[in-house]
This record gives sequence, C-alpha cells and structure tokens, in this order.
Amino acid sequence: MFELVVETRRKEELLDITPLVQRATAEAGSSGKACMVFSPHTTAGITINEHADPAVAGDFLAALGHVVPEGQPWQHLEGNSPAHVKASIVGSSVLVGLEDGELTLGTWQGIFFCEFDGPRTRKVWLEILS
Ligand code: ZN
Repeated sequence: MFELVVETRRKEELLDITPLVQRATAEAGSSGKACMVFSPHTTAGITINEHADPAVAGDFLAALGHVVPEGQPWQHLEGNSPAHVKASIVGSSVLVGLEDGELTLGTWQGIFFCEFDGPRTRKVWLEILS
C-alpha cells in the first residue's frame, strides 16, 4: 500500500490528485491491473470527474451544498454533519484500471480528493491490485 499526504486549503475543496496517483502507480511498476484510491476519512471522499475545466469542481460543490444544506437540525454535536453526509454521497474510493503502470482514465477524467471539513492534512491510500 502507498500513502499519499495531501494538504487541503479550504473548508470544501476538490483537489486534483491525478498526477500524485499516476506518479505512485508508475513507481510501483507495470504488473498491476488496477489501483484502488481510498480516503480513510469520514468527512472527505474520492471521486472521478472532469478536471479540464475547474468550473466543474465548483459546480459539483455548489450542487452538493443544495442537496445537503448547513442549516438543518443536525444531531451530531461536532457540528460537521453536512461533511459526513457529503463524504458518504461521494464515496470513499474509486477503482481505476492500469496498463503498464498508466492510469486508464478517459480524456477529461481526473481523480479528485473531496474535502468537506478542511483545511486539514489528509491521507490517501493506494492499493495496487494484480
Ligand atoms: Zn463529525
């Protein structure tokens, strides 16, 4: 398993981690068939979406904000229930195929670390599956 460390800078942010994941899978060699990208956090997630136009990430966060509004009578006393809910909506992992150590992503696709309760230092775990 590989561990990446990422620093988020805002309360909510989609961080394009594609180059970090690609570097790690290339260093792992060409034998793997797929890479699982996993967030070991309850207020952050992992997703794949367009990374060519940064406006897509902004729209994504805005849409999630409409689905999960802050001003609900949340019971979780820590005060970050929207972040927990958004993390589960997005999910904790993605699985991406590998060919000769290269991620098999579509032309416009990137892998995003989705921060919902930042800024923080976060971990991303990579598991190369053979
Ligand atoms: Zn909490």
